[in-house]
Amino acid sequence: MTTKKKSTLRELALLPLRGVAVFPYMVIHLDVGRERSISAIDAAMAEERELFLTMQKDAQTDEPDMDDIYQFGTVAEIKQLLKLPGGTIRVLVEGLRRAKIVNLKSADPYMRVEVEEYTESASKDMELEALMRTLVGQFEQYAKVSKKIPPEAIVSVVTLEEPGRMADEIAAHLSLKLTAKQDVLEAVNVKERLELLCRLLANEMEILELERKINARVRKQMEKTQKEYYLREQLKAIQKELGEKEDRISEAEELREKVDKAKLPKEVREKALKEIDRLEKMPPQAAEAAVVRTYLDWILALPWNKQTKDRLDIEAAEKILNDEHYGLKEVKDRILEFLAVRQLAKKMKGPILCFVGPPGVGKTSLAKSIANALERKFVRMSFGGVRDEAEIRGHRRTYVGAMPGRIIQSLKQAGTKNPVILLDEIDKLGADFRGDPASALLEVLDPEQNNTFSDHYIESPFDLSKVMFITTANVQYNIPRPLLDRMEVIYLPGYTEEEKLQIALRHLLPKQLAEHGLSKEQLVVSENAIRKIIREYTKEAGVRNLEREIASICRKVAKEIVAKKIEKAKVSAQNVEKYLGIPRFHYGVAEKKDEVGVALGLAVTEVGGDTLAIEVTIMKGKGKLTLTGKLGDVMKESAYAGFSYIRSRSSEFGISDDFYEKYDIHIHVPEGAIPKDGPSAGITMATALTSALTNRPVRKDVAMTGEITLRGRVLPVGGIKEKVLAAHRAGAKTIILPKENEKNLEEIPVNVKRKLKFILAEHLDEVLEVALLEEQK
Ligand code: ADP
Repeated sequence: MTTKKKSTLRELALLPLRGVAVFPYMVIHLDVGRERSISAIDAAMAEERELFLTMQKDAQTDEPDMDDIYQFGTVAEIKQLLKLPGGTIRVLVEGLRRAKIVNLKSADPYMRVEVEEYTESASKDMELEALMRTLVGQFEQYAKVSKKIPPEAIVSVVTLEEPGRMADEIAAHLSLKLTAKQDVLEAVNVKERLELLCRLLANEMEILELERKINARVRKQMEKTQKEYYLREQLKAIQKELGEKEDRISEAEELREKVDKAKLPKEVREKALKEIDRLEKMPPQAAEAAVVRTYLDWILALPWNKQTKDRLDIEAAEKILNDEHYGLKEVKDRILEFLAVRQLAKKMKGPILCFVGPPGVGKTSLAKSIANALERKFVRMSFGGVRDEAEIRGHRRTYVGAMPGRIIQSLKQAGTKNPVILLDEIDKLGADFRGDPASALLEVLDPEQNNTFSDHYIESPFDLSKVMFITTANVQYNIPRPLLDRMEVIYLPGYTEEEKLQIALRHLLPKQLAEHGLSKEQLVVSENAIRKIIREYTKEAGVRNLEREIASICRKVAKEIVAKKIEKAKVSAQNVEKYLGIPRFHYGVAEKKDEVGVALGLAVTEVGGDTLAIEVTIMKGKGKLTLTGKLGDVMKESAYAGFSYIRSRSSEFGISDDFYEKYDIHIHVPEGAIPKDGPSAGITMATALTSALTNRPVRKDVAMTGEITLRGRVLPVGGIKEKVLAAHRAGAKTIILPKENEKNLEEIPVNVKRKLKFILAEHLDEVLEVALLEEQK
């Protein structure tokens, strides 16, 4: 196909176009307002209604001249004219042919030019055909993607036969830049025009594709943010409806404020703030939120930096100890020494005090007095039955219902980081599969380690180095050895009757009166009444039960006074029974008989010194020796040792040689439910045995203690003071002790010693001589 220039030139009126390109065959409305343009239309109407349309290079130019317009344009025919209000004319034009300006004929009153026209024929070769097909394919594709082209337009384009026209129509439909449209206009060569359009279409497709992608992305983004926004708004609305959100915010804020005020160590503070952040993000009813809240409560409640100032005044301490405790001179002296040393060597990491003694001897109240003297807070923490390490160190927070250990609990209770903490009954610590609490306790007490004590629950280290620990135990031998090594042991063996009396009169009675709101006048308890209570209602080394009995009297009197039955009461030895019921214990051995086969031994148990009546029965049999009363191995062995000694000396004792073949022997130690052990009942068992075999009664007022060897030697034993006090309580008059224990007699209070007769024995023979009476006939 060829494009031909027409040989003749034509003179036409020129209408400059702003922002629109008109192709041949294109029908379009143009609104014309500029005066010169209207003149051009008027002129065209006068001559065959044809005019030349060409684009301004810049749409903004109002009065374009030749330089402002493109040379290539379209010759068009005016189809219709319509005058619009305001002087504008709407013209409907149809493009006819391409043309190019050759000459400017005149510029006024409109531009008049001479143009050279191009005509195209419909003939085509294979290459053009191929180009047309490609173009159609691309255009259809484009129409599909862009969705801007009406389907009928597609049909009309596809069915076109002339390649040039097809290119022009497609170009008219595309939203090309004006310069690109101008390029198409200027592509006079049809093949070149088709190629150009192919390129432009491909380009457009790419842009469309990109647009589509961008659109998709934008939409996705929009959808997401919109969705989130929507959901968040909904959530807010719900929370507001439930009245929650505000609470939560204020809760977190409140906690943060508290943390700020709490003066926590840096590490703890950071941890706490982190937990608050976490809490804020949780739904308020979540179980986890409750866990976090409890944790924060603990952190905030602990005295990380609070401490009291010590009163370092030994005289004041002495006064307090004396005011609050009767007797205990040695104990008080040792406490004061301990405090003095602590005061001098402030940095010295001194040992820990450990009070050892039976219940009710004042261990707790001494510790309290120490706290008073130092003006420190006091907390008591019992270890009875603690088997689990977690009780000391706490559980990890991952456990349901986890709690800090007792040390941290005590500190919270104290509210200061330097309280006196009494670790009660550390001899009752157990150990099992859940870890060894003793080793945890060791860490607590170790001054090298305890400044960074770590509780599993709290997680941050707590400084225990300012705490003053005091421990107590009923018996020393049950204290785990490594703990014992760190402690300074102070023994409180128990009180004599006289001491108890004084304690009752000076301390227990006034204390109980005050506690029950009674005055000294309302209740008078005589000295003899107290003595009777001590002797017949209690049997103890300490004064705990004594205090309880006095409290019981106070209660009853208080009740009667309130009921207006009496105004005041006087309790004497005669009417104690009215208040306390019948006596529980028989005092003394006066009522007892001298018996065969029963000897009074002495022992130290967890409740202090005590008497043990050991019984032996002989019956016909085959020489079996039975031991009952829950005896430990050592005690059993010492029974066998005594038995062997007696057998070896049977003829001297006047016992038939074959007694061990003809008789069964049963040794029993009453109160069988209580386990007993140790060698100190050796001579007692041997005495009871000899008594039973020889039928000589044992003197009722003799009590004894001592280990026995196979040869009958008497070896020393421990706990002499406790035992002697117990024997005295039980009313014994003569006490047989191993000779080697003579030195221990010093420990015994003079007023008790005075009332007793001591026999110091080296050999069982001496024991038997004192203890056994003549054979009963
Ligand atoms: P522990 O801790 O040894 O079992 P406590 O300290 O609880 O004994 O003492 C029991 C009661 O006896 C307390 O009321 C205590 O004040 C009182 N008490 C014990 N010993 C004395 C004493 N020497 N002087 C005054 N009161 C005492």
